[in-house]
Amino acid sequence: MTNDLKRLAMDGTATERMPLLFVGHGNPLNAIEDNPFSRAWTETGAALPVPKAILSVSAHWLTRGTRVLSAERPQTIHDFGGFPPEMYRQQYPAPGAPAMAREAQELAVKHHVSLDDDWGFDHGTWSVLKQMFPAADIPVYQLSIDYSKPMEYHYGLAQEIRALRDKGVMVVGSGNIVHNLRAINWQANAKPYDWALEFDASIKQWIEQGNHKAILDFQRLGQVAQLAHPTYDHFLPLLYVLGFQHTREEPLFFNDAFDMASVSMRSMLYRS
Ligand code: ZN
Repeated sequence: MTNDLKRLAMDGTATERMPLLFVGHGNPLNAIEDNPFSRAWTETGAALPVPKAILSVSAHWLTRGTRVLSAERPQTIHDFGGFPPEMYRQQYPAPGAPAMAREAQELAVKHHVSLDDDWGFDHGTWSVLKQMFPAADIPVYQLSIDYSKPMEYHYGLAQEIRALRDKGVMVVGSGNIVHNLRAINWQANAKPYDWALEFDASIKQWIEQGNHKAILDFQRLGQVAQLAHPTYDHFLPLLYVLGFQHTREEPLFFNDAFDMASVSMRSMLYRS
């Protein structure tokens, strides 16, 4: 009997393993603009199977202790300043996924995850999903990032709850592989900085090699790493995606370009 058949026999419901995504979200305006980045999100969404739920790990939900969003009807959070009024009118009315949130909590035995009814969808989540799944009819929930924890914590927690992917959950990590807002260059078609290209290329190569250890040790790149990530919030979602990855899955890169010279939009899809 194959493993798939065994699984079928065991729980009686056949659910294929859901794809896994890392999305470089960059500028919040990508939520409403029609540009090459947002177009690639839309095309990717249209090509994916319809999951039972989407679990987003966004750079914009940082907490003490890990939390999982269990709200039935999550609010849309406009967590940015200085954008046009249209941005504050945006809503992403997808339902929540409280049962799936409890499932994530139960799977995390070695890591403590608490339920959270208060958070909603921050722009790391909705700016991407609005373009990727515009109908907003798939239940969505979020896992927070405990910024006080070491790199291995994030990777280990994702590994522990990886079985969610076999229960119909599509995981989307939303951050950026290079993210330095102080170094942004607003000129059209500004050339990426050398340190930005170098960091992005190193991470890409390690992703291709499946060398997660090197990625967890990214601070060893010294000044290049410090310039790529003055803070780690946009890098940490990648560590979750790597933890959710299964060994034989190959990355398919898209949006491998820079925006504003210091933000890598590189995104990737893993499919079993
Ligand atoms: Zn962001």
